[in-house]
Amino acid sequence: MALPEAYRNTGGLGQPAGRVYNFNGGPAALPMPVLEEVASELLNWRGTGMSIMENSHRDKKVAAMALEAEEDLKSLLGLGDEWKVLFLQGGASLQFAMIPMNFAPGGAPCDYVNTGLWSDKAYKEARIVGADARFAASSEADEFTYIPSSFDFRAGSRYIYLTSNNTVRGTQWKRFPEKPPAPLVADMSSDFLSRPLDLSDFSLVHAGAQKNVGPAGLTIVLVRKDFALTGAKGLPHLLDYRTFVDSDSMYNTPPVFAIYVAGLVFKWLAAGGGLAETALRNEAKAKRLYDAVDGSGGFYRGTARADSRSLMNVTYRLPTPELEKKFLEEGKGQGLVGLNGHRSVGGIRASIYNAVPDEGVDALVDFMEGFKAVNG
Ligand SMILES: *Cc1c(COP(=O)(O)O)cnc(C)c1O
Repeated sequence: MALPEAYRNTGGLGQPAGRVYNFNGGPAALPMPVLEEVASELLNWRGTGMSIMENSHRDKKVAAMALEAEEDLKSLLGLGDEWKVLFLQGGASLQFAMIPMNFAPGGAPCDYVNTGLWSDKAYKEARIVGADARFAASSEADEFTYIPSSFDFRAGSRYIYLTSNNTVRGTQWKRFPEKPPAPLVADMSSDFLSRPLDLSDFSLVHAGAQKNVGPAGLTIVLVRKDFALTGAKGLPHLLDYRTFVDSDSMYNTPPVFAIYVAGLVFKWLAAGGGLAETALRNEAKAKRLYDAVDGSGGFYRGTARADSRSLMNVTYRLPTPELEKKFLEEGKGQGLVGLNGHRSVGGIRASIYNAVPDEGVDALVDFMEGFKAVNG
């Protein structure tokens, strides 16, 4: 598996011919050493004479692989046995419904923090399933340019829901609410495993894998076992967390290939020094990019407030939509792809997840400087 040198992807380990630097918001870049490992054992996985995709999920080797992925993830995050890792399907979006169905049934209260598209979708889904969901804070009046810091949490709320990183707006929580009056539940899809996490105030975290962890089709859920037990009774099996806690995520056919790739990503992160080291790299990458934006004399304008800037999704505008179009086209011509902002907001978004190498960020910064010199 990957060595720390490969993790840093420097010193001649840049992109093989024909590969681009991928700044997609999701599905997004995967680490080269992981892709190479997948390629090397695609036809014959662990001596089974077939690919991982062709193996039964009831096979001992496959079950062991999934348990190993769970253990590796727990050790990356420093999670104790009070936590269970679940490998689910349905995307982060199914969690929007599953969470209130389990934990705010029968019109029970639950508080949401509105920081943009994804938290708003989660809130609306909670209303659909009948929960008494309310916003305890929102940055909507300010175009979601910041993370709120004061909250109107209700007594008796079953949980407090937030989105740790706002993929669309390029904002990210730096500190979570202190002494929350209810368990925190978070959608961490776009910054999961980008930094160490203190989960003492959390009871559930979910993340679609396709942003920072692996292929689409897998949703990772971390849930405290005692919290899972408080879930509503009588739900369909596939909507009840207990089903997956009790079966090690093998109640029905899990997304085996996606779990396998995510497992390799966990090993790659561990080989690269774990989450503390990963966070340092991410901070350095984001700083280079934000410095390029801030040092452009106003040619590039960051859309997020400085204290709320995401280390994962760097969002900015150019002076005109025409220039933005030209920027995207010329960037693509230089092998810098996926820089378009989310379709709901436009502009530029450079998603610099864990797997985007330092060289990719350097290439983007060089391109930004050149583009400004010609068009500024
Ligand atoms: C992408 C994204 C989602 C949606 O994920 P799906 O897996 O497509 O349902 C939800 N929340 C956040 C923060 C995201 O970035």
